[in-house]
Amino acid sequence: MAARLLTVLAALLSTTSASAYVRATSPKSGKPFVWLESCIVVQADGRGSQDLPIDVVDATLARAAANWSSLTDTCGDLRLTTTPARGMAEVAADGRPVVVFRDLAWQRPGGMPHDPSAIGLTTVFHVSTPGLPGDATILDTDIELNGVNFTFTTDPANAMPRLDTVIADLENTLTHELGHVQGLAHTCWDHQSDTPPSDDQGMPAPDCDGPLPQTVMDATMYPYALMPGEISKRSLTDDDERGVCNTYPNSQPQAACFQRVQNGGLGCGVAADRAPVGGLLLVLALVQVLRSRSRARSR
Ligand SMILES: [Zn+2]
Repeated sequence: MAARLLTVLAALLSTTSASAYVRATSPKSGKPFVWLESCIVVQADGRGSQDLPIDVVDATLARAAANWSSLTDTCGDLRLTTTPARGMAEVAADGRPVVVFRDLAWQRPGGMPHDPSAIGLTTVFHVSTPGLPGDATILDTDIELNGVNFTFTTDPANAMPRLDTVIADLENTLTHELGHVQGLAHTCWDHQSDTPPSDDQGMPAPDCDGPLPQTVMDATMYPYALMPGEISKRSLTDDDERGVCNTYPNSQPQAACFQRVQNGGLGCGVAADRAPVGGLLLVLALVQVLRSRSRARSR
């Protein structure tokens, strides 16, 4: 009897603590995004950040990637890694995932201003051919960071914000954005789409403005930083990890990826196993954002 009660309790506990991840989808077809390349190499723009030396940016980007890869390298066949900055980089559908700090104006060159509450955003360039092979294939992802409204640091406890800016932890921000790079969406519905996205359990993602389970708010893919200098997104939750593991189930050894990275190759694996999109290729961009929920200025 006691054993049965324990079993029932355990079942109840697992039900109440059940949580989920959300994959980003192609706006036209609703099909989940996926990389067909197995080795994603991210590189910072050599112009760097007004707040941090470029070697610190490189090291922080590497740590943010390792926050994912240290957990997901063994479960799946996507390899997320980085290479040091070299030369100028810009947001473009060029198959080269980059990180660009916007220190002078929070917008793309010649573009419209971004939302000032956005700490960072990731643009996902993808194939949009609903109903045809290759639809929702990710071709490139680029990260922009808001150096106009935020002061980036690696040590938020001891950092001083520039005038009229809020402290943002670079590793916290990059770990979140790298989730988008791998095809994940936010753990709650932030009204960027008309209807809530579905989670991996087939349920609508909860409204970000409503009451939320703690697991949703704890996730690296929760869309808000809840305080200046937040660092909790540096650590993945089980849902973040499952999101990558389940999207890219382990199917083949990936030793060649590291070989190519060590040789200085970028965008390795290009065309090796890409779907035959050929002349049907239509590239669209979807922007996903990490926002600061607290706009309280900490002068
Ligand atoms: Zn986001």
